[in-house]
Amino acid sequence: MQGLLDASLMQNLQNRFCEANNVYLVCLSRERGVVTKAYGEKEELEYIHGIVNKNMHMSLMNKLLDQGIENVLEEDCGTDLVKMCGVSIRAGGKTEAIWIVIGIMEQPDAVVPSYIMRTTPERYYKSIRFLETLSKQMFAVKMEEMLAQEAFLKSRESEQQRRIAEKSLADSYASLEAVLENVGCGVCVRDPESGQILYTNQRFQGHLPESMTNTLLEPYRVREKKEDGGEYFREVYDEKTGRWFDLQRTPIRWVDGREVRLSTIYDVTDKKLYQQKIEKQANNDFLTGLYNRRRCEHDLACYIREAEAGGSEGALLYIDLDDFKHINDGLGHQYGDILLKKIADSLGGIPELRHHCYRMGGDEFVAILTAEGNRRLPEILEKVTELFSSPWQLKNADYYCTMSMGIVQFPRDGSTVEELIQKLDIALYEAKRAGKNRIEFYDSRIKSTSFERLDVEKRLRDALANDCKEFEVIYQPIVNVEGERDHCVGAEALLRWNCGALGVISPTEFVPLAEYLGLINPIGEFVLREACRNCKYWNDLGHPEYKVNVNLSVVQLLQKDIVDTVQKIVEESGISPGNLTLEVTEGLAVNDMVRMKRVLAGIRALGVRVALDDFGTGYSSLNHIREMPLDVIKIDSCFVADIGKDEFQKAFVTMVAELAHAIGVRVCVEGVETVQQLAALKKTKIQMIQGFYFGKPMDRAAFEKKYL
Ligand code: C2E
Ligand code: MG
Ligand code: MG
Repeated sequence: MQGLLDASLMQNLQNRFCEANNVYLVCLSRERGVVTKAYGEKEELEYIHGIVNKNMHMSLMNKLLDQGIENVLEEDCGTDLVKMCGVSIRAGGKTEAIWIVIGIMEQPDAVVPSYIMRTTPERYYKSIRFLETLSKQMFAVKMEEMLAQEAFLKSRESEQQRRIAEKSLADSYASLEAVLENVGCGVCVRDPESGQILYTNQRFQGHLPESMTNTLLEPYRVREKKEDGGEYFREVYDEKTGRWFDLQRTPIRWVDGREVRLSTIYDVTDKKLYQQKIEKQANNDFLTGLYNRRRCEHDLACYIREAEAGGSEGALLYIDLDDFKHINDGLGHQYGDILLKKIADSLGGIPELRHHCYRMGGDEFVAILTAEGNRRLPEILEKVTELFSSPWQLKNADYYCTMSMGIVQFPRDGSTVEELIQKLDIALYEAKRAGKNRIEFYDSRIKSTSFERLDVEKRLRDALANDCKEFEVIYQPIVNVEGERDHCVGAEALLRWNCGALGVISPTEFVPLAEYLGLINPIGEFVLREACRNCKYWNDLGHPEYKVNVNLSVVQLLQKDIVDTVQKIVEESGISPGNLTLEVTEGLAVNDMVRMKRVLAGIRALGVRVALDDFGTGYSSLNHIREMPLDVIKIDSCFVADIGKDEFQKAFVTMVAELAHAIGVRVCVEGVETVQQLAALKKTKIQMIQGFYFGKPMDRAAFEKKYL
């Protein structure tokens, strides 16, 4: 009620009242103490305070305020000269303040300073009543005025508040709308009862495929409804646009209180594609696009369960490329990769293998056949074999790459992934061991092979580390049969491995392993050194015409420094280069003709001779023979087994002999065991024979004893 006790107004009122009525006034309030400055000059006030002190003022005010009934109370000042009354100033029934009215009476005998205003009792009480009325009326009016003003202020305030509220509501609606337009998803609010669409944002309207908006409008499906009846979530694929969407529906309460459906649609294609990419990376082989080992093991576990449950039988094919290393080393990894990709594509192109082919790593592939495929196993194997019987085009040339395959059947051979893979490995190794380019089924009788292999591997490494002491080079005589008298012209150096506990191991068994393990180079150099040294010894001991043949593995031939290595060993041993013949197999001849020609030419340039071993068993065409820098062709033993009876064999040997003669290449026939074979061969133009008939491979001492 501050406005009511406007100090300046009160002061003004007080001063005019005092002047008109010759009384002294002051306005006090309990809260504010002195509201007006007491009327009167300094000496007037000092005089009055000499009679009525502050305490009397206070007690009067407290009485008026506390009693609250009387408007006017008189305080006894203990003398007739001075009268003091309190007049309450009320507002809204409550005493807000009081006037203290002091009158100094006109008394003839009293000693009152002249500057003090004086009054009479009548005039004093009259003025009191007037003040009472005045206070009442004035403050009543003032009060109304103030209440009105207050009310006005209040209403103005609330109006403003309303305006602020309204504005922010409008603002927040706009903000909300802006948010909804930019949330990156389509938003739609729909009344499920009436089907009425209550709200959609731009994205929902414009950028969603029709199928999505339709899906969204479908009624709930019980299956998809969450148990608590709340949110519904679904991932939807739109075939037309090839995009993925996350669809979410939530019941919400609309502004008018009804329950509606809030649907949101997110385009999650990018996320989905990324997810698919990650999944693909985890399950697919990067190079070939086939599934990888991880996926194979996963799928295999499922197929095993299926086969067990259905009482059916599936099969697992393990394909390992033969001598893939040669291609990789010879042509470079990028071509090796191309070949793997081609093979993967071709395998996947066999309908029964599509989606069931895996690359296990390196040059190993696995195919899983379900019961259905297993029933047609022979057919499928034929298709796979056919694939590998024709050449692959690489670097604009034909390359042959055969494969060996191991097969297990499940659950017959095993009911866990580990067991099957292990047996598969055994079967595959068996195929490799039996000469590669073949298929072997797992046989429980060869169960120990893989353990043996591990053992052999370790022993082979140990043998090398142990200065090749376990290796021995033995010699098989090569006999010239051209003239009247058959006579030895040298020997083929053949390697033996005398591996303590495992006994003597044939090179057909450990040479492929040594090649695989990268150990063939040091072993090969050992043989070459031994053979050259011994031949030089024979030459020095009265047989300068004796020659020695040494087998070179393809892996050795592919070494960049092979020509230097040969030269070094030849020089070290002191052998006449013309007395050394290096035997290479024809399989390699096709793989990179240009390179091979260069390497062989380099060897021949040293004066060392080159023989093509096992002729007739590989893929090389007669054309290649013409092109290759050769000195000798060794016809494989398989062409002499029935040479007396088999016309083809006879014709073949005759033809090769003729051809070789024409191009100035000598021919040696291997594996001659009988006199009949010898007789048949003598009719052809061949020069040399190697076989048990003349002598089995024998150790150095035996050879020297017999032929020196
Ligand atoms: P290869 O170079 O064709 O050697 C001839 C193989 O035929 C020898 O087998 C020999 O013992 C055998 N043989 C010779 N005459 C007859 C016969 O009348 N009847 C029968 N049944 N067999 C006969 P071996 O010593 O077991 O060698 C097998 C293969 O191992 C060799 O075939 C050769 O390719 C490879 N090899 C041998 N020593 C080495 C070597 O030092 N380095 C390399 N890289 N390979 C070698
Ligand atoms: Mg040989
Ligand atoms: Mg041979």
